Amino acid sequence: MSDATFEPPQIAPLEPPSRLLMGPGPSDVHPRVLKAMSTPLIGHLDPAFVAMMTEVQDLLRYTFRTGNRWTIPVSGTGSAAMEAAFANLVEPGDRVAVPSNGYFGDRMAAMVERAGGNVVRVEAPWGEPLSPDAVESVLAEHAPAILAFVHAETSTGALQPDVEQLTRIAREHGALVIADTVTSLGGVELRVDEWGIDVAYSGGQKCLSCPPGASPLTLNDRAMEKVGARSAPVRSWYLDLSLLQNYWGDERSYHHTAPITNIYALREALRLVAEEGLENRWARHRRIAGGLKAGVVAMGLQMLPEDAWWLPSLNAVRVPDGIDAKLVTSTLLSRHGIEISGGFGPLAGRIFRIGCMGHSCSSRNVLALLPALAEALREQGFEVDVKEGLAAAVEAMDE
Ligand SMILES: *Cc1c(COP(=O)(O)O)cnc(C)c1O
Repeated sequence: MSDATFEPPQIAPLEPPSRLLMGPGPSDVHPRVLKAMSTPLIGHLDPAFVAMMTEVQDLLRYTFRTGNRWTIPVSGTGSAAMEAAFANLVEPGDRVAVPSNGYFGDRMAAMVERAGGNVVRVEAPWGEPLSPDAVESVLAEHAPAILAFVHAETSTGALQPDVEQLTRIAREHGALVIADTVTSLGGVELRVDEWGIDVAYSGGQKCLSCPPGASPLTLNDRAMEKVGARSAPVRSWYLDLSLLQNYWGDERSYHHTAPITNIYALREALRLVAEEGLENRWARHRRIAGGLKAGVVAMGLQMLPEDAWWLPSLNAVRVPDGIDAKLVTSTLLSRHGIEISGGFGPLAGRIFRIGCMGHSCSSRNVLALLPALAEALREQGFEVDVKEGLAAAVEAMDE
């Protein structure tokens, strides 16, 4: 190769385009979180940082509604917290029940298999929640060690209702419960202890409006007993909780360098949750996303989920017949700077996925999105009444 190949690349200064993030994540980051991220690094074993670790753990317990001692941010995105849950809880040969009603159930299955477990499926169509009956019959037939479910299925916009029923069934059958709360934590009602969830994991960039990189995980004593009783070590060194406990437990000794800036960000994002109050935050998501829902319905569109499992943080809206969903989402992005997303898997081309998460969940954003969406649909020949949509949204959000 000639030396010319090693000329320094000419790269322009960083200037990301201005966007309104209303897709399935990430959501818009609060300015206070961005500011926290531009503060200077300190060492990950500095006493000042160690104090922050404790604060973040306290804030996470508040947000998860748990007293679990084992409540930490895992270094990595939501999938890292997810893999930490499965890699530690699943021992080779364990049977694990996972849902078939969305993309993230498939990811759970893949992680279970890599951990040496055997997957059994609780069946439900994409876009619907699991029924307690289906869970009951799978647990009765296969007696799995673990039942996993997705509280807020981002791929379909379906909320899992009846969580307490699922956890009660699991307990009756001696199974531990792992809940994916990536798109519910900090946005949708979630009560880890009261609902009997043994393990819950989440991510930063959905309803917490943090950049991805430090991801909440909580485990109760029952779950940690199973981890502690493993006969074979966890196959992942990085995510092995028995090693991580030296850093996040009482010792605070080095395991890996915490993503310091991400911990700053998470701390500030969780402070915002605490300031607003968790219940107020759940109510805001229902009210604002309720406005979005009322608006799209008044414009003649239909929601995919039934109201009983509508997910405020991720609104799945049916694509009208004859409409090219990709063209709509690309028009919104290029012309208005608004990011929403389409469906995939069995729902490809059939739904729009509109996030209402954290800092992105505001009446201002809903009122910016509705006319832009209406315009993009009208250009493809689908007539909508924007005025009706805006009026319905305003009314719903004002209540
Ligand atoms: C986003 C998401 C994940 C994965 O999180 P990443 O941060 O993308 O790794 C897992 N489960 C659900 C339900 C999600 O929405």
